[in-house]
Amino acid sequence: MDESQGQKTRENRRELGITASREKDFSEWYSQVILKSELADYTAVSGCIVFRPYSYTIWEIIQKHLDSRLKKAGVKNAYFPLFIPESLLAKEKQHVQGFNPEVAWVTHAGETKLGERLAIRPTSETIMYDSYAKWIRSYNDLPLRINQWNNSVRWEFKHPVPFLRTREFLWQEGHSVFATQNEAEKEVLQMLGLYAEVYEKLLAVPVVKGRKTGREKFAGAEYSTSIETFLPIGKAIQCATSHFLGQNFSRTFEITYLDKSGKSLHPWQNSWGISTRSIGIAIIMHGDNKGLVLPPKVAPIQIVVVPIVFEKNKDLVIKKAGEIAKKLSKFRVHLDDRDNYTPGWKFNEWELKGVPLRIEIGPKDMEKKQVVVVRRDTGEKMSVPFESVGKKIASLLDDIQENLYRRAKDRMEKSTVEAKSWQEFLKNADSRRWVKALHCGDPKCEEEIQEKTQGVKANCIPFDQPKKTRDRCVHCNKPAKYEVLFAKSY
Ligand SMILES: [Zn+2]
Repeated sequence: MDESQGQKTRENRRELGITASREKDFSEWYSQVILKSELADYTAVSGCIVFRPYSYTIWEIIQKHLDSRLKKAGVKNAYFPLFIPESLLAKEKQHVQGFNPEVAWVTHAGETKLGERLAIRPTSETIMYDSYAKWIRSYNDLPLRINQWNNSVRWEFKHPVPFLRTREFLWQEGHSVFATQNEAEKEVLQMLGLYAEVYEKLLAVPVVKGRKTGREKFAGAEYSTSIETFLPIGKAIQCATSHFLGQNFSRTFEITYLDKSGKSLHPWQNSWGISTRSIGIAIIMHGDNKGLVLPPKVAPIQIVVVPIVFEKNKDLVIKKAGEIAKKLSKFRVHLDDRDNYTPGWKFNEWELKGVPLRIEIGPKDMEKKQVVVVRRDTGEKMSVPFESVGKKIASLLDDIQENLYRRAKDRMEKSTVEAKSWQEFLKNADSRRWVKALHCGDPKCEEEIQEKTQGVKANCIPFDQPKKTRDRCVHCNKPAKYEVLFAKSY
């Protein structure tokens, strides 16, 4: 962050509300939302952000969920070094070509030049598989399934966007080795399923599962699968990936095992990852012009209780508000009893921070033995008697979770259109739709489409394909191979 950005950050904090519209000025809206809600902040390193407690808590919730799923599936956690010697990174040719432009290197220790440059991991295939080659001896050592929760660095030169594209990001990367191709491919889909669950069930973000085109696959993979979504700002985004590596790396890294008959064989591998990009995707998917709208399952605070006090019965109201918060302690609840802010100011702040439910309690509510509950997603207000608060809150949180998902899914479906001709393709791509079209599968043709449209890319080949495949490629008119989703993307 340079000086002017720092100044801007400080100024932004002076005004509480969001002053930009997501529709009209997305990047200003996004920047205000993440700064003012205290999710993140810019730093002295360009393209690197601070995950402030509010966003780090969301990441911890995602981690906790996924970590228990992975452990249940038999995957174990470990940690490998942040540094990868150049000779290791360069071992797999496609892999190094794919990552080289984005690798940050350590060249010196103090004033002393290192004998060999060390890459700061852009991903850990090479360093891990060097160890795997030592550890795997026989079929008894398989499958080997290891996950790391760590940080990675990819020094991109595209415009950095907090959470979505930062030079350092947090993620997990899983790397499994199997005796058979079938097992390795099966797990590729199993992990993709777990990622889809994180997005759909936790973040309320609908996704499309598919395979990447050859041009877009992970460098060094046989093929890559991904989940993708379409943001309300008219751009597609890759949510998570799961790659089938075949025997590419096991051959390069000389990983072998002896089967039961004593024959030496190369095992089959895969790798898979989900990153903190997921947080950014949920922000854009659900946020509105008042700020964040967080899905209850990942909201650091699910319910905020705001007492509305007047001098005469202040103590009674605050006491009751405290009792209600306590009654709701199985949820992530916060009692905002700060006395130097007005209730109105607090309402705005918690709306900006996307807290799913607000409970207000004032003198009139005390008389009627009720609270007022306000939903962040719809703005709907309702009175709830004291005795049924716990039950009502539980069902409202479920309802908000469901409503956010349904809303996002409807929007995504409405944005997805089929293009039967090149004219239709151009028209829809231009109006920022997710364009479904038949494609020949030729990477050259894919590249031409990207050039002619200032950046429209093949996001994925959805697993869900149309029955008939006899038609022609939307662009070059050669026989079509499959249907592809196209859009500009992050
Ligand atoms: Zn074509």
